[in-house]
Amino acid sequence: MNLINDAWIPVIRADGLKDQIAPWQLTDENNPVMEINAPRPDFQGALYQFLIGLIQTCFAPEDEDDWLDYWESPPTPDALKQAFDKAAFAFELDNPDGIAFMQDYDLPEGENKPIAGLLIDAPGSKTIKDNLDHFIKHGQVNQLCPSCTATALFTLQTNAPAGGVGHRVGLRGGGPLTTLLIPKEEPSTLWQKTWLNIFNQEDKEPADTLDAQVFPWLAETRLSDKKGQITTPLDVHWLQAYWGMPRRIRLADKTEQQSCDLCGQSAESMFSGYRTQNYGINYDGAWVHPLTPYRFDPKDKELPLSLKGQQGGLVFRHWLGLALQDEENGDRAAEIVQFFNNERGREFHSAMAAIWCFGYDMDNMKARCWYESRFPIFYLSEQQQNNLMHWASELINAAREVVKILRTQIKEAWFKRPKDAKGDMSAIDRQFWERTEADFFRLLEQLARLPGDTGLAPPEIYQDWFNTLQRTVFQIFESATLASVPEDLDLKRIIAAKNSLRKKFYGNKAIKNLKTKMQQEAA
Ligand SMILES: [Zn+2]
Repeated sequence: MNLINDAWIPVIRADGLKDQIAPWQLTDENNPVMEINAPRPDFQGALYQFLIGLIQTCFAPEDEDDWLDYWESPPTPDALKQAFDKAAFAFELDNPDGIAFMQDYDLPEGENKPIAGLLIDAPGSKTIKDNLDHFIKHGQVNQLCPSCTATALFTLQTNAPAGGVGHRVGLRGGGPLTTLLIPKEEPSTLWQKTWLNIFNQEDKEPADTLDAQVFPWLAETRLSDKKGQITTPLDVHWLQAYWGMPRRIRLADKTEQQSCDLCGQSAESMFSGYRTQNYGINYDGAWVHPLTPYRFDPKDKELPLSLKGQQGGLVFRHWLGLALQDEENGDRAAEIVQFFNNERGREFHSAMAAIWCFGYDMDNMKARCWYESRFPIFYLSEQQQNNLMHWASELINAAREVVKILRTQIKEAWFKRPKDAKGDMSAIDRQFWERTEADFFRLLEQLARLPGDTGLAPPEIYQDWFNTLQRTVFQIFESATLASVPEDLDLKRIIAAKNSLRKKFYGNKAIKNLKTKMQQEAA
């Protein structure tokens, strides 16, 4: 199968028809392609990145005007086919004796593994989002169709977690977060959804030739064993960020005529195993993948560190770092998001895009969980951005303080010796962030609309947020302590904990700050 010429990407068309397309059919006019239809959520995110990487590599617009033209009227499938054609030689999936997509240039020997080893697995229990049920455990997957195999290979290479001695992590570290721009207005086509994430050539230099600088599998692997080397952004073309290949893999074993254990499709032959070896490309140095947010050391001493999924999920307390910049910890939005915030967004009068963030919560080699969230972003002047960063962090900080107090007091109500109690309080946190999220984003929209020369945020904003926090903290406390009755319910202890909750809440510095600002006009 050739991943440029053949139809293999699972999609949904405008009338709901499920189909498979070749990448160049993205802009089919008859019954337009609307969405990717992958069998697993991590595949969904990976297929988006495959298409974005391909378009960025082969069909980047010359400048922003050019970008806008194609946004308004997409290129024909023929034009895309012609552009992608120059990469087709590198996108053969099954080519035992030659160049094969994301597979090592020369790997005659290695450890043989069952095909399920390509999947980044999540344990079946401990699921938070329903979509996690789509993850399938080892053993249940014995054969994969070519489409799922290609996707699994790409997903692993782009997200590669730690894999044991010398089995390298991905170019942006193990299990990074990805943030993609998505159109706010539905329905939007898959072309629009991907095109939003493409840089123009003035902003990001294209590659003169498509060689191993871009697609590392086109030449002998830059090994990283004892005699080997690291691979930094100075060693290869920046486009390799989209095509990083930390693992040395060759697809090997096949079975005939069966159905795929992931998507259920049948195909002439299925992949059942692969060959692998350690000490593949060791990405090091100041890599910054354009679709991933990073933490930057304020003193520039440490390398930028990609943000990862975290226990507890992606909630609005992460918004600053994912959508703009969090000055407290140095988190900064992905380059593509910054580009929208500072430049691309200018073309659009209203906020026309949002961000879609996703990634695993990795526990070393295992995926604990898969998270995804959608957040608003805004095109703003520099002054407005600074204001918004300041105001949003005031609101977020107050919420962070309050959830800490809430957690402690619920523990005190629940346990005789709360300090020794190890109980999992993450459900409390989650409730708190979920219940305050809508209000936060409502206020954020209001704040984003204020002109740049606004000195202080309006007192009503602080009042509103104070009310939200106050209401939520007591509601959650009540329901956690009174509604669910533990066996040794101690009413006295609960009342004492509640009194102390009240004291700590109203006495907290961040809350007092809100209250002062609520009254600022009167002063
Ligand atoms: Zn399949």
